[in-house]
Amino acid sequence: MPYSSSLKSRGRITVGILEIQGAFLEHQTAVTSAARSLGLEVDVEGVRQVSDIKPEIDGLIIPGGESTTIGLFLKRHHMLEPLRSWIQSSGKVTWGTCAGMILLAKGMENQKEGGQQSLQAMDVVVSRNYFGRQINSFEQEVEIVNPELITQTGSSANSSKYLGVFIRAPAVVRITEPSVHVLAYLKKGDADNKVIVACRQGNIISTAFHPELTEDTRWHRYFLNTIIANK
Ligand code: GLN
Repeated sequence: MPYSSSLKSRGRITVGILEIQGAFLEHQTAVTSAARSLGLEVDVEGVRQVSDIKPEIDGLIIPGGESTTIGLFLKRHHMLEPLRSWIQSSGKVTWGTCAGMILLAKGMENQKEGGQQSLQAMDVVVSRNYFGRQINSFEQEVEIVNPELITQTGSSANSSKYLGVFIRAPAVVRITEPSVHVLAYLKKGDADNKVIVACRQGNIISTAFHPELTEDTRWHRYFLNTIIANK
């Protein structure tokens, strides 16, 4: 029988990171470290122009930043339509963090006056700057409800708690399609008030917080595992 390591049978995967604005270098570091802990070989490629939106890319990260600026850039550089069709093509996995969550949403509250661009990918309504402009950033424990994210190995194994970093963060205020699943909540005020801060619909994941700014790489591992499951 020919030798085949788990690495070989899983193949190499290519992750694209939208490098327009925001914490893309931190995502690159986190993807690399998550890949190492999963024993995966991952190529990371920057996506800055239409020609970078290639079929070879298996998973795409849309980092945080300013959703209006990123949206405008995408429009000016004719990247909106190619990205929309890449996201919808079969087997592709997309993950938006913070501004990325806003860009992926089909519905938006508190958007910039005059409206803003969206990739129209996920059946949710997000509220931009949900936590208020005055609270620019904060860290708070998030309650993970997805078992796959809880049972992973590593320092945070079997914990449903995750320390989220929120920077002028959005939140999901409405789910408009039953195929959208909540991955994590944030408790606000009394215990019954749960705000949706991470969700998934098919192969599209979005988080309101910034996992690339913490040492805990389980969201990046979850993203890579989702790619593997779809390859
Ligand atoms: N609220 C910001 C926006 O509108 C997102 C902030 C962030 O990505 N850290 O894009």
